[in-house]
Amino acid sequence: MNIGFIGLGAMGFPMARHLAKEHHVIVWNRTREKAERHAREHGTKLAADITECAEADVIITMLPTSREVDEIVARLMPVLRRGTLWIDATSGDPNVSRETAARLATKGVAFVDAPVTGATVGAENATLTIMIGGAPEDFARAKDILRLCGKTIIHVGPVGAGHAIKVLTNSIMGATVWITSECLLLAKQYGIDMKTAFAVTNAGSGRSNASENLLPMRLLEGKWPLVFKLAHHDKDIRIAASIAHQQHASTPMLALTQHLFTASLHKLGDQADYIEVAKVIAEMNGTSW
Ligand code: NDP
Repeated sequence: MNIGFIGLGAMGFPMARHLAKEHHVIVWNRTREKAERHAREHGTKLAADITECAEADVIITMLPTSREVDEIVARLMPVLRRGTLWIDATSGDPNVSRETAARLATKGVAFVDAPVTGATVGAENATLTIMIGGAPEDFARAKDILRLCGKTIIHVGPVGAGHAIKVLTNSIMGATVWITSECLLLAKQYGIDMKTAFAVTNAGSGRSNASENLLPMRLLEGKWPLVFKLAHHDKDIRIAASIAHQQHASTPMLALTQHLFTASLHKLGDQADYIEVAKVIAEMNGTSW
């Protein structure tokens, strides 16, 4: 299979590497050096021009938001071939993806939204969970390719459903990171040793991925790696809030989480990691992390 892969960022770079084990992968990236390195190191083909990606049977985009995907769709529209499958692995906006799918359908191109979860470590180890929105036959085609990048691949519903559940599940994580940081920092402020606070939390009802995996490294060891940009996380929660608005749903926790993450983004800047919201909580209370 010929695959055109567009967007070799923290997630796309390793994903394209896995696909190259079984397919001919042609890579394009805005910053060309990354695509050159990918071709050199992983046996992929460097696209001389982005339109070369449209010669493939399958096009995969892994970009920050639906806006960038839309720009790429516009660039490729004139050269798209009938029968191509477009897999958008970006954590995008379901409303935009439905419009994109309709636009591509006029060219005979099928579209699935296939966002992923599992962080950069999941992309590196090909253990991602991938949630797909699209027609059953397009899901089947996409699954057969994406199995090289992920362990769990789930058909969620029609186009847009993958993007919708992705941002909703990320919002659950955001709220969990925030409340767990808040309570553990409060325990410290109260005078409880942080290690002890973690031990109790992880042996009890407050346990979560945040308390077990995400926060100990930061709050106990003082290591704050950039794993997932706060800017991306804020974008996801804002899309989730827009879904609530569209559905005329009352979601006060989601709204609060969105406000807290957006305020943190303004404070920390677009290169911050999302777990750094814990620093904002500490600052709000005049304490340290
Ligand atoms: P990165 O910021 O690491 O990479 C973004 C990629 O998009 C880069 O290849 C970048 O190119 C490219 N890009 C940015 N703007 C444009 C543009 N205007 N035109 C063309 N290309 C552009 O992001 P991630 O890989 O971390 O994330 C990608 C998607 O995956 C996001 O939607 C994110 O929410 C989602 N995601 C991320 C996870 C993570 O842990 N990082 C986990 C799960 C999902 P360039 O190299 O030139 O900057």
